[in-house]
Amino acid sequence: MTDENNSGKLDLWVTETHKNMVSLGFRVERTLFSGTSAYQQVDVVETAGHGTLLLNDGIVMVSERDEFVYHEMIAHVPLFTIAEPRSVLIIGGGDGGTAREVLRHKSVKRAVMVEIDQMVVDACKKHMPSVSCALDDPRLELIIDDGVKYAQNCTETFDAVLIDSTDPIGPAQPLFDRSFYKKIAGLLSENGVMISQSESPFYDTEIQNSMFSNQRPFFEKIHMYTFSTLTYPGGLWSFGFASNGLCPIRDFDPKRAAVPGMDMQYYNPAVHRAAFALPGFVTRGLTGLIDPVPL
Ligand code: SAM
Repeated sequence: MTDENNSGKLDLWVTETHKNMVSLGFRVERTLFSGTSAYQQVDVVETAGHGTLLLNDGIVMVSERDEFVYHEMIAHVPLFTIAEPRSVLIIGGGDGGTAREVLRHKSVKRAVMVEIDQMVVDACKKHMPSVSCALDDPRLELIIDDGVKYAQNCTETFDAVLIDSTDPIGPAQPLFDRSFYKKIAGLLSENGVMISQSESPFYDTEIQNSMFSNQRPFFEKIHMYTFSTLTYPGGLWSFGFASNGLCPIRDFDPKRAAVPGMDMQYYNPAVHRAAFALPGFVTRGLTGLIDPVPL
């Protein structure tokens, strides 16, 4: 704590430290919510420059300032690649941002969101209404349960499964396991797509290696795409795109993304394509695990 501007007001910061080697800090105006659930510590703070910020176990999940980037990219890349997506399963995603973007697709008649922690949902409903605003949509079934358990018992199929999880620690660890990906592959409809939060290309090559190795046996094609973020360490983040052949470039029709009134802040057809153009340092560590796309 410092008072650099001599205003008499304490200068409070919340700092996420990644791998004990880099820190990302946000100036805090006030704490809106702090609680400990059966799964994690949940905090919501109002920041000086990034709007409301959600942290689980001290790790930044979402900031109001740039949440649109993550949520548009996890939802619209698969849902505009599939010709007419009707059903979507979201695993995690308790802040509601992914559900909000999914439900902007009129063709989606049913979405199921399985979030393990009621406290995250309640805190975001109260303090992040612009993110959680679609959680009461009648097309969405919100289930408070472990995504692994849900997947094991599920008999439905989905056009897209979006794994909007925390890092592979605590309750999210099994969401990166081989047995979980096998189960999800079995829940996909014929042209279905699984999107998985695949961490930082700069800092997390080992996690990416392990997660794509675990996915590899169950999908014909695995691709990766990136997006920029203000709130995660390194500023560049990624998603995995796994399918039984549906290609995010060849099968993508940009005309589908030109929906009147559906204005996006980050996603557009050019960004969709460009996101799959990967620098050499990103692909080098993943040889044989991810497939090239016809750019
Ligand atoms: N965009 C975020 C990120 O990458 O940091 C993820 C946000 S979202 C809030 C992640 C959610 O996954 C958390 O609310 C957490 O409670 C939930 N989660 C973790 N493990 C889970 C599991 N096994 N089943 C369902 N949800 C889980």
